[in-house]
Amino acid sequence: MDKLGTQVMTPYQVQRYSRHIIMPQVGSKGQRKLLDAKVLIVGAGGLGSPIAIYLALAGVGTLGIIDFDVVDLTNLQRQILHHNDDVGRRKVESAQATLNAYNPDVDVILHEEPITSANALQIMEGYDIVVNGADNFPARYLVNDAAYLSNKPLVDGSILIFDGMASVFIPGEGCYRCLFPEPPPPGEVPSCAEAGVLGMLPGLVGTIQATETVKLIMEIGRSLSGRLLLIDGLEMEFREVKLRRNPACPICGDNPTVTELIDYVAFCGLPALPT
Ligand SMILES: [Zn+2]
Repeated sequence: MDKLGTQVMTPYQVQRYSRHIIMPQVGSKGQRKLLDAKVLIVGAGGLGSPIAIYLALAGVGTLGIIDFDVVDLTNLQRQILHHNDDVGRRKVESAQATLNAYNPDVDVILHEEPITSANALQIMEGYDIVVNGADNFPARYLVNDAAYLSNKPLVDGSILIFDGMASVFIPGEGCYRCLFPEPPPPGEVPSCAEAGVLGMLPGLVGTIQATETVKLIMEIGRSLSGRLLLIDGLEMEFREVKLRRNPACPICGDNPTVTELIDYVAFCGLPALPT
């Protein structure tokens, strides 16, 4: 330990992360922040894959992965955490094997359960930052609300067909519900399973999320907080819209109506998730 209370890097780590450490914006101080950081990734799917892999390569010390699914053949078109031989394997287990093959020093913590109103706050408690790789609206709203109530920054991203979106929600500076107060009615917005997604689109958006995450950890640069980045992969156009805290937001507004986590699955009228 040094006088800042952070771990002193070993010669192996200094070499391993040398391309970071030589950057004046990172340095050994920034790298040690990465090594000390604890990041929760919701979902080990399309977005969760590049997020987790790049954060592991960057040396983020603790990565929590929450997912209750099993690797399916249809996942392999985009979910780079999982390999051909992993079909049928639990996603968290496959993710841990891949991440530790990339970087054995990363502590990968597995949460093999669906994220629910009953466990979200408790799981988030152990982490500094939450990164959203959820692929459905009930989970997206739940993660937004739980991160706000836990006072954790949320690095958000979503994808569909050729389109992607990314932002950072710092509690008090705006959230997903400031833009979209309530989930759409079931069936109004198709899922990737129904409408498809270009295989490298999650790579594009997930890599932006990983970039924003390390910037938050190292406290450098200008984050996507206050901005929503919109990506059109077919036209290859990036646009951004300003995002301000909405005083009428049901959770982070002046008179919040959502003061605790609710049963989002029933709320969205979707069938209950297996437990
Ligand atoms: Zn809000």
